[in-house]
Amino acid sequence: MRIGSAAAGIVALGGLPGCIGRSIRFSRDPFTLGVASGDPSPDGVVLWGRLDADAVRNAGAMLEPIDVQWEIATDDSFRLIVRAGRADARPELGHSVHVEADGLEPGREYFYRLHCGGATSPVGRTKTLPELNAELQRVEFAFASCQHYEQGYYTALHHLSEEDVDLIVHLGDYIYEGTATDRGVRSHEGPEVVTLEQYRARYSTYRMDPALQAAHHAAPWVVSTDDHEVDNNYAGVVPDDDMSPEDFLLRRAAAYQAFYEFMPLRRSTMPQGPNALMYRRLRFGTLMDMSVLDTRQYRDDQPCGDRFKPSCDEHMDPARSILGGTQRDWLVDGLTDSDARWNVLAQQVLFARFRNYDERGRETWTMDKWDGYPFDRAALLDTFTEASVSNPIVLTGDIHSNWVARLLRDFENERSEVVGTEFTCTSLTSGGDGEPQSRIGAEALPYNPHFDFYNSQRGYVLCEVTPGAWTTTYRRVPSVEEPGGPVEDLATFVVENGRPGAQRL
Ligand code: FE
Ligand code: CA
Repeated sequence: MRIGSAAAGIVALGGLPGCIGRSIRFSRDPFTLGVASGDPSPDGVVLWGRLDADAVRNAGAMLEPIDVQWEIATDDSFRLIVRAGRADARPELGHSVHVEADGLEPGREYFYRLHCGGATSPVGRTKTLPELNAELQRVEFAFASCQHYEQGYYTALHHLSEEDVDLIVHLGDYIYEGTATDRGVRSHEGPEVVTLEQYRARYSTYRMDPALQAAHHAAPWVVSTDDHEVDNNYAGVVPDDDMSPEDFLLRRAAAYQAFYEFMPLRRSTMPQGPNALMYRRLRFGTLMDMSVLDTRQYRDDQPCGDRFKPSCDEHMDPARSILGGTQRDWLVDGLTDSDARWNVLAQQVLFARFRNYDERGRETWTMDKWDGYPFDRAALLDTFTEASVSNPIVLTGDIHSNWVARLLRDFENERSEVVGTEFTCTSLTSGGDGEPQSRIGAEALPYNPHFDFYNSQRGYVLCEVTPGAWTTTYRRVPSVEEPGGPVEDLATFVVENGRPGAQRL
């Protein structure tokens, strides 16, 4: 469909807020980055697009807002357009658009596309959430993390794009900020990214990948950030690199802005300088509440020097937090008030205790994870029990390996009550092909009997949620260092309603 007939649909539906964007003609495709949708609600969803920088430059419009039209239909050939409108792609946001479409029906599949300057975008599929109090019988979603561009091809994302899921949850490390190397299967080019222009270029490189675009086109995404969207293992205002807190906050502002510009996020997430409100909650009827956490922006610095370390005084300071007080209160209140059957924390770093021993035989903690913040972890484990939270499930990324854990009321006592279940997903590419058991994981297993499963290959995870049971299927791609290749089931686990801890099928 050309722009003329689309415009007819727009006028008929009357969605014409005051726009200042200029109408232009492009001499090359402005939609090379594809489209995306995300953060669905029962009556709406965010539609995302971003105009190709070269196309905008060629059109002489780098400094101007540009008029973009959007359409939502119930069919992928757009015979029945149910919502449409226009938005400004503003130069301040890299000519991206974030349309918060509303007036949609709950729990329904839709198709969307954008038009601009005589060009039409690819078509995306999306789905709204069910009604707030719907007695939903099933949700199927996927989660994944860690997609270093240089360390593998997006074979897992290609296969993920062909799964029929209601939602894709990304737990962070969408980009990696580091200097390009020639050691990988491809290069993400340039030095370590620090400025807004550099972060934008890095996201563009990743987002040009057809498999990543296909995964965005297949389902709405709920995205969160971990460290590499900004800087390896950063903590609040403390960088990994040698940089003052003031300079680091400028960098964090640039990083969060680029993340917002490239993701289907609501305006409420738009950064204000170095701050961006990224924790939020999605409700899937009475079946599932999903709290999406931000374990980087508000955390205190990792104690005892970060990485695997014996405990120290700083570690045992109960004032230190990984969530920050405001987010922790919001989470505890949300869990306490929840009437959902399944209560999910979609977050970044390993929640369960990961015990190991150093070369001097001293017990170590992994300080970048929840292990480094034991009082926040204990507060949540206490909440699970004391507030009788129904079926807590923690979803985790970051560590480039698959794990299943029983969450213990007291991790210092392996016989203590099991109060929840953690599923950690491996990376999509980071670390290259991997192997079934890496040394560090295999070594630690005997010291951590609360883990029921471990694997260190690449892939993603599917979850099927019903009132009676939660089913997690780990999907494995045997190789990401060669293009193409299959996906296969690796292992499946079930959590029965009311019985924390996973059982392998
Ligand atoms: Fe990672
Ligand atoms: Ca990470």
